[in-house]
Amino acid sequence: MNHQKSSELFAKAKQIIPGGVNSPVRAFKSVGCDPIFIKSASGSKIVDADGNSYIDYVGSWGPMILGHCHPKVVEAIQQAAKDGASYGAPTEREIILADMVREAYPNIEMVRMVSSGTEATMSAIRLARGYTGRDKILKYDGCYHGHADSLLVKAGSGAATFGVPTSPGVPADFAKYTLTATYNDLEETKALVAANKGEIACIILEPIAGNMGCVAPRPGFLQGLRTLCDAEGILLIIDEVMTGFRVAFGGAQERFGVRGDLVCLGKIIGGGLPVGAFGGKREIMEKLSPVGGVYQAGTLSGNPLAMSAGIATLTLLKEKGFYDRIEEKSTYLCKGLAEEAKAAGVPTSLQRVGGMFCTYFQGQEVFNFADVEPGTQAIFGKFFRSMLESGVNLAPSQYEAGFMSIAHSTDDLDQTIAAAKKAYKTL
Ligand SMILES: *Cc1c(COP(=O)(O)O)cnc(C)c1O
Repeated sequence: MNHQKSSELFAKAKQIIPGGVNSPVRAFKSVGCDPIFIKSASGSKIVDADGNSYIDYVGSWGPMILGHCHPKVVEAIQQAAKDGASYGAPTEREIILADMVREAYPNIEMVRMVSSGTEATMSAIRLARGYTGRDKILKYDGCYHGHADSLLVKAGSGAATFGVPTSPGVPADFAKYTLTATYNDLEETKALVAANKGEIACIILEPIAGNMGCVAPRPGFLQGLRTLCDAEGILLIIDEVMTGFRVAFGGAQERFGVRGDLVCLGKIIGGGLPVGAFGGKREIMEKLSPVGGVYQAGTLSGNPLAMSAGIATLTLLKEKGFYDRIEEKSTYLCKGLAEEAKAAGVPTSLQRVGGMFCTYFQGQEVFNFADVEPGTQAIFGKFFRSMLESGVNLAPSQYEAGFMSIAHSTDDLDQTIAAAKKAYKTL
């Protein structure tokens, strides 16, 4: 495959954009090759600057569950653009999308629109602190909630110590309010809460961890957190930025029957345009300004183009049997990938929930971040490069999930399995 044009663009981009990209993982650093630059996309396929076509499992990191350029979404965006790109004033479209969100998540009585997942989690945490009058927050190692200061934190020597920043530029004084715990370990969380009694505003987590591959919650983990939060006056923030409208219309909360006090949304809700949202109980949400004192704002929040793309997308997701079809496609693909790996003698743990999945190149199942064995990233890099050459676009890291869209055909899936069969031989 020729990547001449992509190489030229990357060289140029590196001169004026740090690392040549506007979000770090796009630089392909952990898979040992240069990134491809994308020119266009349609359905299940994306096309790079050199004209190579790939079956796409990145889907813009989740949003494109309908496939790229769904005609109804394109039409909605075009219509909205004709009405004006932005006014900085309220519109009816915001109410329509808010209503659709409320319908999907019954625990969301009120919702506020923002422009990214980062903004949604950052604002939800500020609100939780404002509501409870407490400063500390608890998150899980390996869960990603965007790049706000207090969230770029990892535990120090032990989980019971105060957090230390994982990025320069985050003052240690901010990080000390962030406690981190081991995903899927309820007992450890209970101990942390007991050691910080009356001081924790919220526990935030991904209900299915998709930023360390694809890790489902152990039976009872989410329920246990719900009970713990209720007993301790802690708000449970369920970050469904990735899982919302992905693993079911009502997200992981519908799938697992556990409800957060606050919920964060992003990705699919904007149908490919920049949208995030957070919502929850009226009593909590009315602490937000202008009703309450917790400040939160955005010049482009509720942008008409973004709202239109979201409304068109969610409308299509409500079609009967949509999530069954996504489930069928994902089951078919993952079964094929696992069978070929077994035949090739490559140890893998194929983990999947609904239309999100991950192949870990190790025999042991992953339940938390520390379970990912150190050698797997290098094996994944080889696998990734082979798949790319065969015309399959995966997310460029072992720690990312793959995403199925409704546009993926059986032929696409068979081609992907055949490409994997070839790739396994190179490992
Ligand atoms: C992607 C993601 C975010 C951040 O969203 P951005 O739109 O990239 O700011 C937050 N939480 C989770 C779970 C995510 O997957």
